[in-house]
Amino acid sequence: METDMNAPLLAGGASDASEPPPRLPGGPVIGIIGSGDFSRSLAIRLVAGGFRVVVGSRNPSRIPRGLFPDGVELRSQREAADSAERVVFAALYPEHYHTLVGLREQLAGKVLVDVSNAVRLNSRQRSNAERLAELFPKSSVVKGFNVVSAWALQTGAHDGSRQVLICSDCSDSKAELLQLARRLGFSPVDLGGLCASGDIEEAPLLLFPSWGGPMLATFLLFLFFYGYNFLRQVLLPYLDRGQNNFQQLPLVTVNQTLPAVALVTLAAVYLPGLLAAVLQLTRGTKYKRFPDWLDHWLCRRKQLGLLSFLCAALHAVYSMCLTLRRAVGQATQNAAYRQVSTGQSGLGYAALTLSIMHTLFFGWDFAFSPAAYPFYLPPVFLLALVLPCMVLVGRTFLALPCLTSRLAKIRRGWESARHRPPNTQETIEVDPPGACGDV
Ligand code: NAP
Repeated sequence: METDMNAPLLAGGASDASEPPPRLPGGPVIGIIGSGDFSRSLAIRLVAGGFRVVVGSRNPSRIPRGLFPDGVELRSQREAADSAERVVFAALYPEHYHTLVGLREQLAGKVLVDVSNAVRLNSRQRSNAERLAELFPKSSVVKGFNVVSAWALQTGAHDGSRQVLICSDCSDSKAELLQLARRLGFSPVDLGGLCASGDIEEAPLLLFPSWGGPMLATFLLFLFFYGYNFLRQVLLPYLDRGQNNFQQLPLVTVNQTLPAVALVTLAAVYLPGLLAAVLQLTRGTKYKRFPDWLDHWLCRRKQLGLLSFLCAALHAVYSMCLTLRRAVGQATQNAAYRQVSTGQSGLGYAALTLSIMHTLFFGWDFAFSPAAYPFYLPPVFLLALVLPCMVLVGRTFLALPCLTSRLAKIRRGWESARHRPPNTQETIEVDPPGACGDV
């Protein structure tokens, strides 16, 4: 039977269960149960991706004409489940899943996609997808597409929301959905079995995932340096000689705090890399996991770099307002931090060096004056230099040829004798001429 795709989309009210399922021309048909926002956006996307779509509604005659694009069949839930050859999306809220149990026969042997989200974080209940799998034991349930908003589905994933997290206990069904996601222009990520569905459902609730730690660390650093400046320049002078510097708090104190935070945060970008190198050198292998805290720190370097850049940019704005800094010095610093934001290690170390030089350049004149140490407290820029200088010294130390060559070997899979199984030959030789091998 040929279907006229220009004919009205509405295919009448809910059909009798005994009627044969509608036949759609062409290749496989994707089914969507539910006719809400998500269903509509997904249907638009599927049609644009070259799929044929049948939407199943409790009452298809109530769906306004033109809501779904040409090429989408609007049917009863049963007909839609029947028509779909392999994949059926459950585009309804999980509290209504139980209303679909009458479709068990139609959905048996098919891939049932759960697109729902969690309503709260860290709920200890089973996930929506796991409950759907219990309701439909003969279908293979796949979790996916919930991290994509209806808006992103319609706009064609041009706004950066390209990642689709997918999991299922059935690897064939999962592979099918991974392929479908790719064909729709998304980047699917396989997260394993259905036990991962709880995390996937909670993903849209996470605000700035992986930014919490770096933001907290930057905030604590800000508090520390601001508190130190407040003590040194405002509170102690006031208590000692009644000098009122409180007007400095909103601008001058903040502007002295920001570069210190930027510099230390920038050093914190490179410190974990150094620690990792030292660990690898002392262990003589790269096949041993770093401690969790170091692993997390390594994974947050980009965020720390961006926060460092933010502090430096704010410092530039404050400095311009206060006309405390000369234009040349500012340009030097901004160039340095632009490089930091790229997060690339070579340029990053250059940025760190430039920033240290910038700080020394401006602080050198009064670093040795006794007046710079009221109440025996050193200026904040000196404190801020401690960690960056340690990182630079550590980096310079690691640049020694004997250490560089050993580290390069370890990172290419070489292991020191105490980690090699007995009777194993050393196979990788990358010693540059003049390198001194094992330290
Ligand atoms: P919605 O606009 O409220 O649509 C839900 C649809 O469910 C209704 O249109 C209804 O279609 C259908 N439904 C079936 N049985 C139902 C029942 N017993 N009671 C009420 N409705 C019933 O919701 P939505 O925004 O499309 O969201 C649907 C699912 O997608 C949710 O699980 C949501 O978490 C997920 N999701 C949504 C978005 C988004 O941006 N909207 C993003 C990611 C994930 P009929 O009346 O035609 O039967």
